[in-house]
Amino acid sequence: MRKKKALWVREFATNDFLMIAGPCSAESEQQVMNTALALEKISGVSVFRAGLWKPRTRPGSFEGVGREGFHWLKSVKDKTRLRIAVEVASPRHVEECLKNGIDLIWIGARTTSNPFSVEELARSMAGTNAAVLIKNPLHTDLNLWLGAIERLHKAGLNRIGAIHRGFFPYSYSVTRNIPRWDLLIELRRIMPELPVIADPSHIAGNTKMIPKLAQDAIDLDVQGLMIEVHSNPKQALSDSGQQLSPAAFFKLTEKLNFRKSSDSKNDTEKELQAFRSQIDVIDQQLFEFLSQRMEIAKGIGNFKCRNEITILQLKRWEEILTTRMKWGKQYGLSEEFTKKILQLIHEEAIKVQSKVMNQCKDRTSGDD
Ligand code: PEP
Ligand code: MN
Repeated sequence: MRKKKALWVREFATNDFLMIAGPCSAESEQQVMNTALALEKISGVSVFRAGLWKPRTRPGSFEGVGREGFHWLKSVKDKTRLRIAVEVASPRHVEECLKNGIDLIWIGARTTSNPFSVEELARSMAGTNAAVLIKNPLHTDLNLWLGAIERLHKAGLNRIGAIHRGFFPYSYSVTRNIPRWDLLIELRRIMPELPVIADPSHIAGNTKMIPKLAQDAIDLDVQGLMIEVHSNPKQALSDSGQQLSPAAFFKLTEKLNFRKSSDSKNDTEKELQAFRSQIDVIDQQLFEFLSQRMEIAKGIGNFKCRNEITILQLKRWEEILTTRMKWGKQYGLSEEFTKKILQLIHEEAIKVQSKVMNQCKDRTSGDD
């Protein structure tokens, strides 16, 4: 159930929900204004986001316009009803934001990952009434996230919230970052007063998956969303693949379903939904992997055809069985299950290879 006292974010919210939208980066006055004017028409949006200093993985990419952008954000504030949110990564950023009337600041995932930086930020905010949202760190470490929140809290800040933007995937993933709704639930269990919102744009890394992730987050009763919207996403100088056009964003907001969240039955359902969302992501990854494996089997089929090698190689099959059975055991899977799965995969790989082999033979005989 939403706790009223937890919701300092109410001050920034519309109908008790904090919808932050705007471009990944402020790029030009025109881009900022065009996006903001389009977003202002969408009634649920209350805060306009735009990054002025962009943490890029490699130097040389667009690193933000810096202070120049404050003039554009001031125009947004003057000409629309929207409040403004900007990312900070250093005490200088904090100082500039507070001086330039930025209403809400957020700490990005890369910064949360570094306790030195968070400590410096916390000190620079001490004694101010800054409203701060803290993104989860890059890697899956709930304590690091909690630590950052605690550092700001210790600095005397009481308008603090968290943003779940997913964690870095260490293996293939259909999303840019992995949502860990279970950790979000754990964070809320530990800090029930803390408002939490989700950033489906940075979880997805593409525009297609944003609506589902946004709804998943709402089903878990988050108090808001942060979504990247750009007046012309294709031309965006950062994160262009994941920014929605204002029209696509409007469609998304129309489809969001805000269910009531008051009884305990609902809470149980939400927890179950959290588990299911994780299963959904993992199953998608499983299928991606299986499909990649079969693509490689096709390549092997072609190779075997060209080199006149038989499809079934018993020694290799035995090696696969022995190694994988051991892996299965190490990962806590039953012997029966591991064997069944391996047999199914091997059978399918043989089928795929025979198919390729037949096509390849037809081609070769056609050449004669
Ligand atoms: C951003 O919000 O544009 C951003 C850089 O996000 P994150 O820190 O989640 O990567
Ligand atoms: Mn971004």
